[in-house]
Amino acid sequence: MVIRSDGGSSESPLLVEEGEAVGQPHSPHLKHSHPHVGHAHQPHHHPHPQSHPHPHPHPHSHVHGHGHHGQHHHDKAKPPVKYGELVILGYNGFLPPGDRGRRRSKFVLVKRQTASGVKRSKHYVVKTPHSSKAILDTTQHSISYTLTRTQAVIVEYNEDEDTDMFQIGRSSETPIDFVVMDTCPGGAEGGSAPSSEGRVAQSTISRFACRILADRTDPRTARIYAAGFDSSRNIFLGEKATKWQENREIDGLTTNGVLIMHPRGQFCGGEAECGLWREVSVGGGVFSLRESRSAQQKGCVVEDENNELQDGTLIDLCGATLLWRSAEGLAKSPTKHDLEELVDAINAGRPQCPVGLNTLVIPRKAATDSAQQHQPYVYLKCGHVQGHHDWGQEKDKVTRRCPMCLVAGPIVKLCMGIEPAFYVDSGPPTYAFSPCGHMATEKTVKYWAHVAIPHGTNGFDAVCPFCAVPLEGTPGYVKLIFQDNVD
Ligand SMILES: [Zn+2]
Ligand SMILES: [Zn+2]
Repeated sequence: MVIRSDGGSSESPLLVEEGEAVGQPHSPHLKHSHPHVGHAHQPHHHPHPQSHPHPHPHPHSHVHGHGHHGQHHHDKAKPPVKYGELVILGYNGFLPPGDRGRRRSKFVLVKRQTASGVKRSKHYVVKTPHSSKAILDTTQHSISYTLTRTQAVIVEYNEDEDTDMFQIGRSSETPIDFVVMDTCPGGAEGGSAPSSEGRVAQSTISRFACRILADRTDPRTARIYAAGFDSSRNIFLGEKATKWQENREIDGLTTNGVLIMHPRGQFCGGEAECGLWREVSVGGGVFSLRESRSAQQKGCVVEDENNELQDGTLIDLCGATLLWRSAEGLAKSPTKHDLEELVDAINAGRPQCPVGLNTLVIPRKAATDSAQQHQPYVYLKCGHVQGHHDWGQEKDKVTRRCPMCLVAGPIVKLCMGIEPAFYVDSGPPTYAFSPCGHMATEKTVKYWAHVAIPHGTNGFDAVCPFCAVPLEGTPGYVKLIFQDNVD
């Protein structure tokens, strides 16, 4: 931690309770340096205009679209400071019904205009938490750990000028910045997969699943904690929840828990390996996994790992898995435009179907199919890319014998993996995942084929990050063989 001198004054009336902010360190002048911050995906608003004694007016008060505009003025405006992005596994760049409001396939964490973080303050024992002052006070953040029917520990949280808080969960209530629903594997792009309109029977994702606190002075540092504060700024851990007291500090786990996996090595470059899955507690501690996902007994403390997000850290909410990409890592990754150009480059080689001799065109957009006569298919056993034809169709209709090498196996439509965050390097998409046919670079498919993703409440599977479908066969991907540049 950086030690800071006091300075400035409290400017978040919604977070400040009379007499509560005494003795807190304030970061000097930080909030004045970056006027164009806030939710990247929402129109920018100034919730506390009266509380912002900025000497310079802000000529543009809206962040449009991706939040990267706003530099077209002559003033000292800087682009928003980006902490990183959370990307849900299984969506190839967008949600099927379209990205709307706080529900989208990814969430950009940007430095807020006013600090929104909280930090642990005093704690005490009460008999009836639901009628205690801190719980009833909807301006006071607090966590209630129910020990018995007549005893609970309440930990108060005070505003923290040094951090920004972002909350993730299934709830559409306003304290949730990023609304995440259960992922339906293969549902994102239609096709033969079931439609993804409201068919998850029972969600396992918590309404207030987790929270991330990003450091406003060192934007490379963001930490994750289980559970999020509800609309009354409370977190309740009931009698049945796993909890414990050590060194006078109380901590606990949520029902299905929040699991994290830090990759070993640098995500960017493709040399990283899958690390071990851990569980993060409400207080930010890191533990080995419980015997089963919601078992009563907590795992063991993992001393040499922490809850600080690294580029490539995976966060599993039991029903959806999120990938954290740091701003630094994303700067080294390809952009969507780069990926589209790579598709164009393959199409420019006019790949041909060796049977129909028609030209194949890889669709540029993930959502669209190529016209039937141009749609490329890959033979998943050998990697030969061809057009749609009936040659070599076996009795079961699923298996086809490849006319090039006579190997029999399933075929699938080729489709570009267009979500850049899942790429571990840049380069031509020469490989495809099996069985879904999503194309990516060699290092990208090989990385994901070695990452085990929690599957429901037990079990782990390697999945295609673009559609969340479990990989099939060994190794779970295929090198593509185009017949191109023939003329
Ligand atoms: Zn073949
Ligand atoms: Zn896929």
